[in-house]
Amino acid sequence: MAAQIIDGKKLAQQIKAELREEVERLKRERGITPGLAVILVGDDPASRTYVRNKERACRDIGIFSQVHRLPAETSQEQLLELIEELNHTDHIHGVLVQLPLPEHIDERTVIQAIKPEKDVDGFHPVNVGNLHIGAPGFVPCTPRGIIEMLDRTGIPIKGKHAVVVGRSNIAGKPAAMLLLARHATVTICHSRTVDLAYHTRQADILVVAVGRPRFITGDMIKEGAVVIDVGVNRVDEGLVGDVDFDSCLEKASYITPVPGGVGRMTVVMLMKNTVEAVR
Ligand code: NAP
Repeated sequence: MAAQIIDGKKLAQQIKAELREEVERLKRERGITPGLAVILVGDDPASRTYVRNKERACRDIGIFSQVHRLPAETSQEQLLELIEELNHTDHIHGVLVQLPLPEHIDERTVIQAIKPEKDVDGFHPVNVGNLHIGAPGFVPCTPRGIIEMLDRTGIPIKGKHAVVVGRSNIAGKPAAMLLLARHATVTICHSRTVDLAYHTRQADILVVAVGRPRFITGDMIKEGAVVIDVGVNRVDEGLVGDVDFDSCLEKASYITPVPGGVGRMTVVMLMKNTVEAVR
């Protein structure tokens, strides 16, 4: 039987509606409007689109947003000064620097300059550390969205074998940590993994964040697996994931589409982190 498709768009709309209510309540009961500052350095077209989507989502939910569009020649010092100012701006609860940054700016230094309490992307080492020790803190949006998708679809995690392909700091690694925190048995695969298909075939839950179009094919998954495709790859026909949707659809029990899957959850989780930043 063909897999059930997990509708990221529908789930994202549900969460947005909940957030709208929460923002209304914050305004009514505490007189606070959650505020998000986004910093964009340079004019990378993909980054511009992501920033526009974030602005739109804020508007949609009732979050105050401000975008600082800085020229590509902005010095690291100027960027750090702006972050420092935003760290101390009371009506801004979340600060986010759109990545990637121009080469002359050190990403790590910039991320570390954001106050952990305002780091709604969850990339600051303090938040990364908190995730690893199971303490409260901001969790990166894409992996948080994955867990939310599983939970809202009623897919159990505890005791399952989760295999994560990809070990980036924004997707693979935090996804693995979150699954582990929810008591999955976790295997992390990467470019040096020997016999990848052996591992992916063991997965009850397979999370793929590699960045290669249609990389995971039906013969690489177990019958009845839950397949979460994080990949977003532009090919001639449009956007495709890291999973070969057609061949996996027949074998999986649940599968996320691209577009309309994990990507939809990412922005909405950023909104959730921003609302939580008020607390
Ligand atoms: P990344 O930083 O380039 O990491 C890719 C990972 O895949 C690395 O850990 C790499 O292993 C691994 N890998 C590469 N080739 C492999 C192979 N042949 N076999 C097994 N593993 C392999 O990418 P990322 O930032 O995690 O993004 C991954 C994909 O997700 C991209 O398509 C990106 O656009 C998408 N993405 C989507 C969202 C969303 O909101 N939907 C958010 C973030 C990312 P090594 O570590 O050994 O190099």
